[in-house]
Amino acid sequence: MQGLMMNVPLTITALMRHAERLHGDQEIVSVTADAPLHRYRFADCFARARRLANALAQLGVQPGDRVATLAWNDYRHLELYFGISCSGAICHTVNPRLFAEQLVWIFNHAEDRVLFTDPMFLPLIEKLKPQLPALEHVIVLTSAAAMPQSALPGLLCYETLLAESDSEFDWPMLDEETAAVLCYTSGTTGHPKGVLYSHRALVLHAYAAGLPDALRITRDDTVLPVVPMFHVNAWGVPYLATMLGIKLVMPGPKMGDGETLARLMDDEGVTAALGVPTVWQGLLNYLRSSGRRLKTLKNIAVGGSACPLALMKAFEEEQGVWTLHAWGMTETSPLGTANIPPSNFAELPPEEQDFIRASQGRPVFGVELKIVDGQGRTLPWDGRAFGALKIRGPWVCRGYYRMAHSDAHDADGWFDTGDVATIDPRGYMTITDRTKDVIKSGGEWISSIELENIAMSHPQVAAAAVIGVHHPKWDERPLLIIVSAPGESPAAADLLAHFAGRVADWMIPDAVEFAEELPLTATGKVSKLTLRERYADYVLPPTA
Ligand code: AMP
Repeated sequence: MQGLMMNVPLTITALMRHAERLHGDQEIVSVTADAPLHRYRFADCFARARRLANALAQLGVQPGDRVATLAWNDYRHLELYFGISCSGAICHTVNPRLFAEQLVWIFNHAEDRVLFTDPMFLPLIEKLKPQLPALEHVIVLTSAAAMPQSALPGLLCYETLLAESDSEFDWPMLDEETAAVLCYTSGTTGHPKGVLYSHRALVLHAYAAGLPDALRITRDDTVLPVVPMFHVNAWGVPYLATMLGIKLVMPGPKMGDGETLARLMDDEGVTAALGVPTVWQGLLNYLRSSGRRLKTLKNIAVGGSACPLALMKAFEEEQGVWTLHAWGMTETSPLGTANIPPSNFAELPPEEQDFIRASQGRPVFGVELKIVDGQGRTLPWDGRAFGALKIRGPWVCRGYYRMAHSDAHDADGWFDTGDVATIDPRGYMTITDRTKDVIKSGGEWISSIELENIAMSHPQVAAAAVIGVHHPKWDERPLLIIVSAPGESPAAADLLAHFAGRVADWMIPDAVEFAEELPLTATGKVSKLTLRERYADYVLPPTA
């Protein structure tokens, strides 16, 4: 017997309607290329999204068409999120930091017909356009007054397009499984893979992210997403803010600028912010060098790569800001786990507290996790056994866009994350590595993340990465690469001595190299691939 409840589709359109009625007057503040600080309200955003929908129809965009965006976090990008997806088209967010060849591949694979771009990416598009046969229209996200000169024929101006479009639009009733957003992962091997989010998945993800014990963000927060809207929908923050009526502060092109972030936080009363560890390290460096103390910030959610414990403690001790470690992927919309400490956290011994804080947290209801060994056998949640991390749930992808088969999904529908992890009896999951970053030394596995965490707790270290380099006897041994803290020049021997007693002796890196900075990927993570290439011929000291 079936239940007798209504089957109302879970769509972004419903989110938008809800926000318009209930918190249309909530503020959205943005830094943009053509206005240092733009402010308006959710109701304005949705009114302009309706004009945008009319404009898209005028341009011939059909349901299911891919419409690309190449833009930073600001109000116009938010309008695109809603205007495109709620028209029934697919908002394809493209990462402008990718290499030109990757961009061409992605645009052509998605067959984007229309592209909305921030003015600063126009020179890039001018260069790529001859290689993009499907692309019919390019619209610059700016006002007529700020329209850049360009050799591209038929270039359109966003503000002119909106001004000339009708303000009334009847949003179509969409099936909740309709595709809403497309985002490509930039894997280190093979072509990028397209993750195609449905309206339903995005709404369910917003519900989950809005639970009190997920990201700890509520209606009373003012939120600054420093995670780009071109990377997994800024971790779903735009939808969460729309659902709950949260004031949004968007940093535009100033994502990596500690001074601007601190000013925005203080001026706009930001209480919660989200981003990758490198962003928070940059902000911390700025706060330390300027001696500034943030006035209103309470929580930062950090994910995308492992957050060193030392960084979390520094924010807590120096700024009174709590760091919430979370884990997820493009393929998981992205929220998979969130680190909410147990209720008895304060009574736990310090090393147990550290263990919990450094872990990636527990699965949020809706997703299930398991770890498996090389034969696919499920491993226990004992905090010791580590294996390939698999996930399933309603906001986890079940395939990739225009890819007939993917090895990432097993016969039972579990998705292999490519991460290696342990899970403790309470459900705290700790990523020990990406499968390809694990250091395999004489048949044993060494966690590069664990070694990096230890290195980062050394007071003279600003950034650390550990990679495996070839060793004639052990196959691979760990090499530690360090960026020294400003004004410091730690000795290699001191750095290695710091590992003693913190990890088994055979896991201690064999050598240390010093670098000015660590190479980053297009999503702001340390690029281990680049480091491995850089140190491919590295010869370890003979004592190892
Ligand atoms: P992406 O799809 O580009 O967002 O990358 C997802 C990958 O980032 C995951 O599979 C992990 O390897 C890594 N990742 C995300 N969050 C964390 C975290 N909190 N700690 C360690 N690795 C993370």
